[in-house]
Amino acid sequence: MTIHDAQRNVDRWIREIGKGYFSELTNMALLTEEVGELARVIARLYGDQVAKPGDLRHGLSEELADVLWVVICLANQTGVDLTAALEESFRKKTARDADRFSAGKLS
Ligand SMILES: [Mg+2]
Repeated sequence: MTIHDAQRNVDRWIREIGKGYFSELTNMALLTEEVGELARVIARLYGDQVAKPGDLRHGLSEELADVLWVVICLANQTGVDLTAALEESFRKKTARDADRFSAGKLS
């Protein structure tokens, strides 16, 4: 599935099954909630927190997909083409960081 396909498929799901988008502000709140759920999983898997029973019932891939889903919703409802936006981000970062991470330049 390409990014374009993902935007189209989420849009179709939202219209046919979800019966419409939540407002942008609601989706922003939901994105924050999903990022928190992702942070919880990462803290338990890679951080110093020890998982309690049930902490990891939602896995890393599920939480990453939840975050991506809401990002796609926000892009769709605000008219952002994520393929073009990501391509522009690559151009920006490549121009800005061409030698940023060369040896000896990390400190
Ligand atoms: Mg989630």
